[in-house]
Amino acid sequence: MAKLELKFDAMVGVYGGTFDPVHFGHLRTVLDVKEALGLQQVRLVPCSQPVHRGQPGATVEQRFTMLQKATEGLSGFVIDSREMGRDQPSYMIETLRSLRKQFPQQPLLLIIGGDAFGDIEKWFQWQQLFDYAHVVVMQRPGSHFENVNMQPFLQAKVTHKATDLAWLNHGHLYFQPVIQLDISATQIRQKVARHESIDFLLPDNIIKYITDNDLYQGDFTAL
Ligand code: ATP
Repeated sequence: MAKLELKFDAMVGVYGGTFDPVHFGHLRTVLDVKEALGLQQVRLVPCSQPVHRGQPGATVEQRFTMLQKATEGLSGFVIDSREMGRDQPSYMIETLRSLRKQFPQQPLLLIIGGDAFGDIEKWFQWQQLFDYAHVVVMQRPGSHFENVNMQPFLQAKVTHKATDLAWLNHGHLYFQPVIQLDISATQIRQKVARHESIDFLLPDNIIKYITDNDLYQGDFTAL
C-alpha cells in the first residue's frame, strides 16, 4: 500500500444502512465518530434493496428524504443516492468501488455498528472491503471485539492509532467508542404499528414525516 501525504481532515466516512427510519442511534453515534476522527464529511448511503433482510417499510425515496430532513443544517453530512438506482441487492463492495472512483486518493472509512461487524464475514466479497476503505466499528464501551474470536485476517488489520487512518487510504480496522443508545428502527416501526409514542427516539421532523405519510402502519408484530 502506498503511503499518502494527506491531511487528517480529508477522510471521508461512509455509513450505509436501511435507515427505515433513521433514528438517534444512527445519528448521535456517527456524529461521535465524525468528531473523534475529524472527518471532513460523512456520506449516509440508504440501500435500495437490503441483502440480509426483508423489504423495508418505507421506499428508498422516503428513506432518503428522512435522512435529508434529519441532517438539515448539520455541516459535513451528505446523503448519498448512489445505491438508489440499483434494482439488485445493495452490496457495499460495489458502493465502495464507486466511491473510490469519486475519491481516488482520500482515505475512505466504512463506518459500521458492532452488530453489523459481527456479521461482516457474511457480506459479499467482505475481505475486499479493506482494499477500498478502512473499517471503523462503533464500539460498545467495555467490549473488545479484537479479543473475541476474531479471525487472523481481521486481527492483522487492527490498528489502535487513529493517525494510521489518515496515512493510508484503506486497509485498517479501527474500534471507536461512541455514546450508547439502545434504539433500533425495528423498535420504532413496531411502536408506530401499535400506536405507541416514538417521541425522543428520533428527530421530531421525522416523526411528523412518518405521520404525514402513514408509514409503518402494517403489522410488525412478527419482526
Ligand atoms: P433495523 O432495526 O431495521 O434492523 P437498525 O436500527 O439496526 O435497523 P440499520 O439501518 O439496519 O438500522 O443500520 C445501519 C447501521 O447503523 C448499521 O451499521 C448498524 O450497526 C448501525 N446502527 C443502528 N442502530 C444503531 C445504534 N443504536 N447504535 C449504533 N449503531 C447503530
